[in-house]
Formats: sequence, C-alpha cells, structure tokens
Amino acid sequence: MRDRRSHLVRSDSLRSLIREHFIDFYYQPYCAVCGQTVQPPLPSPAVCLDCLSSLPFRMDRERIGWGEPWPLFATFYYRDPLPRLIVSLKFAGRTDLAEALAPFLYRTVKRCHIDVDALIPVPLHRKRFVERGYNQAALLAEMLGAESGLPVVDRLLYRKVHTSRQSESRTAEERRRHLADAFQVDPRAPAMNHLRGRHVLLIDDVLTTGATLAAAAKALAGAGIGVICLAAASDKEKYLGYEEVLADWT
Ligand SMILES: [Zn+2]
Repeated sequence: MRDRRSHLVRSDSLRSLIREHFIDFYYQPYCAVCGQTVQPPLPSPAVCLDCLSSLPFRMDRERIGWGEPWPLFATFYYRDPLPRLIVSLKFAGRTDLAEALAPFLYRTVKRCHIDVDALIPVPLHRKRFVERGYNQAALLAEMLGAESGLPVVDRLLYRKVHTSRQSESRTAEERRRHLADAFQVDPRAPAMNHLRGRHVLLIDDVLTTGATLAAAAKALAGAGIGVICLAAASDKEKYLGYEEVLADWT
C-alpha cells in the first residue's frame, strides 16, 4: 500500500513536471505591439522592452484642457504605433490589445490621483455593436477594472444616435451639434442608486474633437453623476519635442 502511494506521488510530480515543460514549450509570450515572441519576464505584462521605449506616452501632459467642465486625461499621444494598435483593437478583433494597454491607463489613474467609484465605457450604438461584435472602449474598461479593482458599469449609459462612418468626417462644430443629445442614462438602472452623487471614470479609446466624450459626460452629469474622462490616446495639446521646435525655426 505504501509502495503504491509513493508511486502515485512520483507519477503526480512527474505529471506536473511534464505539464510545466509543456506550457513552457507551447506557450510563448509575445509582445502585443510588434508580435515578436519574448522571453519573460517582460517589463510590462504584454509589451517588449523595445516597444515600451517607443510608445508615445504623454507623461506629465496626461491632463488635457478642453473647455468642458469635466477633467480629461489621456495616456498616449495618438501617434505611431497607437493608430495601428487602436485600429487593430477596433476592427481586427485584436482584443488582446486592450489587455496590453490597460496597465498603462492604470498608471495614468494612479499618477494623476484619479479617485472614482466606477468605470463607464463610452457605449456604441446598438447597431454598431452588432456590426462589430464588441465595444473597444468596454474592453479597455474591463481590463482597467481588472487592474484597478474598480467595478465596470455598462448598463447605465446608452447611445441613442447612430453615427454613420461618413458623418464622422464632419467638422468639429457639426459633430458637436450632431452628438449633443446622443447619449442617455437609464434612470431605472440599478447602478443609479449607488452612483448618484459619486464620481465615475468615463473611458474611450481615442479622443479627437472631444465631441463624443463631452456628449456622454453631459448625459451622466445630467443624472447627478460626477464625471472624469480618460482616453487611451489623444493628440490634443500636442507636445512639440526639441527637434520639432528646432525644425520649425530653421
Ligand atoms: Zn515589441
């Protein structure tokens, strides 16, 4: 009996050893930005050291002035490789990119002392959601929620105006007017009782004119919820590096 048991122990440890090797052999972590396989440990959970040094962090310019009453932050400038990453996240089903970007968004939350009770992604119109199958802002919010431990509330804010691709190319003013009442808060949503009088972080992938975020923030504020906005990337208040300034002068 004792022999059989010791045999069992040996075969168990052998099995776990094989499993470890199997995982080592077949699971090669890869960098979400360049796609190269990398040897752990990675400096960030999903980005290699080379790509990490090339990401366009806004650093001390994460807080953006935009003429709206709600504080606005962005983690990255919208320049290489961010447009490629966001387009892949949005249209190519690369949902893993939300997981790769979320730790950087969380750093913005911590560094800028953003204190909120919940995360709310900017919703897509139902039609667009069905077309795409997922909401990229919701994926970012989910992953940021996993990083920060903050709850994600996704059945409170709705988008009632569908924006066609063509209308996305309107001027900033036209876009603002078109989107002015595009969002609506469901007053019967269970989260309403908890969030009235508290602050939420409203999350979107890219901020260009700011019309979408402002319209969504307005709907939440109208329901008595304090709003802080966070976009993964934005070129607002674009920083001119030393070389760029020099190039302008020469
Ligand atoms: Zn890389």
